Amino acid sequence: MIPLVEVDLEAMAPKLTEGGAFSETPLVQRVDPLFGHSCRIVAGAKLQPEQAPNLEEITTRKGFCPFCADTIDSATFPFPDEIIPGGRISKGACRVVPNILAYSTYSAVGIYDPGRHFLSLGDFTFEVLSNALSAMAEHGRLVRSYDSRLSYSSINANYLPSSGSSLIHPHLQSSHDFVPFGSQRRMKEVFGQYFEDNQTGYLDDLVRQERNGPRWVGSTGGVDFLVPFAPSGFHEVWGVVSGVSDIVELTEDQIEGLASGIEKILGVYQDKHLSAFNYSLQGLPQGEGGEGSKVLYRITTRSSVEAYYRSDITYFERLCAEPMIDYSPEVWASELVAVF
Ligand SMILES: [Zn+2]
Repeated sequence: MIPLVEVDLEAMAPKLTEGGAFSETPLVQRVDPLFGHSCRIVAGAKLQPEQAPNLEEITTRKGFCPFCADTIDSATFPFPDEIIPGGRISKGACRVVPNILAYSTYSAVGIYDPGRHFLSLGDFTFEVLSNALSAMAEHGRLVRSYDSRLSYSSINANYLPSSGSSLIHPHLQSSHDFVPFGSQRRMKEVFGQYFEDNQTGYLDDLVRQERNGPRWVGSTGGVDFLVPFAPSGFHEVWGVVSGVSDIVELTEDQIEGLASGIEKILGVYQDKHLSAFNYSLQGLPQGEGGEGSKVLYRITTRSSVEAYYRSDITYFERLCAEPMIDYSPEVWASELVAVF
């Protein structure tokens, strides 16, 4: 059994409707046993915009864009031929190119569709997502087989500036390193210890424990989606890819399962007037984290792109290692279940 610990913080606050009389108000702290952070879940939705943001101003192309179809060939470079035969990878509309900014030993950028300078949340169709994930996985397999020192791979995305993205044109990125991210190090430690203690996989047991419960979302292909008990961000969803521990081992069926789930999640984000997101698909090399190790996908929304919209990163997240979540994971899961 994976311990899901919740503490009632017994908060009191004055009630406007009762002339300022103090009464108990819902506030709990929860701990995420995988990544180790605690979070507090406060009552009342506050970060969700009441109307859809007007994206026209920032999403209209105003000059040079390295990822648009008319410039991508001159603004980006091919991969070295000895790593990627022919130097280029594409699948459907998606193009994968080397990143100009080095943030990993090997990295790449995937442009979902050079022909469209902007994709709204509703434009991330199954086809767009599965082509992009598949092309990035292909790049990963080639890089990992080229350099045997590499063990740790991930596929990640920022979308719109409030998520940290520096370019509007939607893209995803990968990292291939010989050292793990902090999150992969946690996965390695927790999965490994859990397997030693239980002879079962941590994420397999989490899925078993949460299936059909209040945080359960649903399954698409071989991917099980759920809302984490103690989120690290707003509207967070996890997808556990069964039967595979490393993203370079993902099959086309598993990639399609991921794409199908992500398409549904982004559709709900759009319906709720949310705009920006981050996601990360991470695994561990075979043999690390015990036999039950699985690839984990996580996605969370970020602040609205509206000017002066409050940041989702307060001192709680930045300095206290304790995200403050104003949306109940159970309510969020119940909204997602409807579309899965
Ligand atoms: Zn563009």
